[in-house]
Amino acid sequence: MLKNWLYVGFGLLLFGLVVFLPQGKVLAFHDVPEKYETEIHYLIDRGIIQGYPNGNFAPTDVVTREQAATMVGRALGLDGRQRNTVFPGVDADSFASGYIQSAYEEGIITGYTDGTYKPKETMTRGEMAYLISKAFSLHEISAVTYEDVQSSGSQYEAINKVSTAGIANGYDDGTYRPDASITRTEYSLLVARGLNDSFKVSQEEDVLETRVVTTDVLNVRSGPSTSYSRVGQFVRGTVIEVHQQQGDWLKVSTGSLKGYVHKDYTARTASGSRVIAIDAGHGGKDGGAEFNGLVEKEINLNVAKRVRNYLENSGVKVIMTRSDDTFIPLDDRNSYAVNNGADTFVSIHSNAFSDPSANGTETFYSSQSQRVTDSKQLALFIQDSLVEALGTKDRGVKDVPYRVIRSTSIPSTLVELGFTTNDSDAEKLGSSYWRDRAAKGISDGIIDYYEWKGK
Ligand SMILES: [Zn+2]
Repeated sequence: MLKNWLYVGFGLLLFGLVVFLPQGKVLAFHDVPEKYETEIHYLIDRGIIQGYPNGNFAPTDVVTREQAATMVGRALGLDGRQRNTVFPGVDADSFASGYIQSAYEEGIITGYTDGTYKPKETMTRGEMAYLISKAFSLHEISAVTYEDVQSSGSQYEAINKVSTAGIANGYDDGTYRPDASITRTEYSLLVARGLNDSFKVSQEEDVLETRVVTTDVLNVRSGPSTSYSRVGQFVRGTVIEVHQQQGDWLKVSTGSLKGYVHKDYTARTASGSRVIAIDAGHGGKDGGAEFNGLVEKEINLNVAKRVRNYLENSGVKVIMTRSDDTFIPLDDRNSYAVNNGADTFVSIHSNAFSDPSANGTETFYSSQSQRVTDSKQLALFIQDSLVEALGTKDRGVKDVPYRVIRSTSIPSTLVELGFTTNDSDAEKLGSSYWRDRAAKGISDGIIDYYEWKGK
């Protein structure tokens, strides 16, 4: 008991000293939450918050509307001289009158519809969001959502803005609790974060993967369907981070925009810098197989160009051994790739056989290659993804020493898309829809391989 009285006495003595310090300088309060000491002392040092005369900061006390106006007024350096206000219930001689009037003039606070300000009422977290968004001129919105804040509600925009800015955040259960009173600690954090970026909270979520936008303009929405409002757009080539997948929709973000996009307009990116050589088989005087009105060299080049587009969209550098109808000797193809910095080689061909019932897709590697393991893995990834994309018969991955893939210093594989001699395969090989599917399949297989290599 005696000990407690000593503390009180000491506290009074301390307060006695405080009043003789220069204006705005107050010694540290003894009840400031340790976790937020830095932010709260930042405000104390600038005279933005002051404690009670008993030396307490009272961290869990709720903030009244006049206290809120005062603190934000000090933070922004508004005119705090006590004076008449536009609000009937706020007298000129009340401590907050100057800040209330100034904040009103700045458009930071508004009264109730009956024209009053109700200075002694507590401020809610929703009202505070409005005040803070105005005070710090926040304009940016994103797809931040809280389960208890309806997107049609009047406070939605303000709560979204303070969240997007990293000034306010919700609770761990996904709620924002807009109707709850705000405590002195919570309010102090908002003001400190508004004033100093280093205090801001990150709204960042885990990144599952990065993808790239593959359409000219991609709408970004506030939720996972087209019925949600548009919050912005990404242009082709924008690299986005994926945080969540909900059906066909991805929750994504870039540095400045967050929202939902449809998965089909994005593609995976390759990590690190990758250079692939795509070799369109045959060319020029060497047409390859010719059946069913199809010329192999033409199919191969067409699919190869589509593969190039998909891979370039995914951030992979692509070298083409030929990009037109040119004859290139077999021995020159892989060495051209290596000499131009390719780390991987994929040759694209179409098959033919005397028996028209032979059909399906197969991918080759060579155990004579200096990179057998990688070559085989690359072949496996491409074969899986290509068969799935084309819906052709899976003839598997085979070890055959074709000239362009044997004795090579980089992982190399040769793809046979399907048989020009088989009616069903030939129909696909002649169709630009299926050629595109094939290209997507090959491209996805290559990215799978690069991701596997990256591990
Ligand atoms: Zn061929």
